[in-house]
Amino acid sequence: MTDRTKLVAPCGIDCGICELYESRNNSKLMDYLISKGIPQNVLPCDGCRNIEGKCPVIQGDCATFECVKEKGISFCYECSDFPCTKLAPSADRANILPHNMKVYNLCSIRRDGVEKFAEKSSEIKKTYYEGKMEIGNGPKS
Ligand code: SF4
Ligand code: SF4
Repeated sequence: MTDRTKLVAPCGIDCGICELYESRNNSKLMDYLISKGIPQNVLPCDGCRNIEGKCPVIQGDCATFECVKEKGISFCYECSDFPCTKLAPSADRANILPHNMKVYNLCSIRRDGVEKFAEKSSEIKKTYYEGKMEIGNGPKS
């Protein structure tokens, strides 16, 4: 894995476009995150794989990261139980958190490879949060 592809977490979330990661190059963003209660000492975040799954926005260890590690795989799509309930979509905070993109991201990584996925993950994220839903045709930017 390259430095960039290593930023794609085992669950399919791209830490390379997470605000906590991006705050390394953006002092205004860092101030904003601190004002929202993110402790200064966890900023900037280096990304899930580089911090052994100790994502600062979750309590304790990440169960998904630990599960992938135990199975000796790189991504959840490689698992015979994929997609398990840890990846199930949830409406809870779906407008501000990326959890509902995990399965789509993982399937895209399986189909296209992680390098290609990393090139288009910003667009996937933008379409998720800002796209207008066309039923039967998916969200459109
Ligand atoms: S580990 Fe968590 S906080 Fe850090 S970059 Fe990844 S998603 Fe963001
Ligand atoms: S059971 Fe498989 S799909 Fe579910 S979190 Fe573990 S590795 Fe990922």
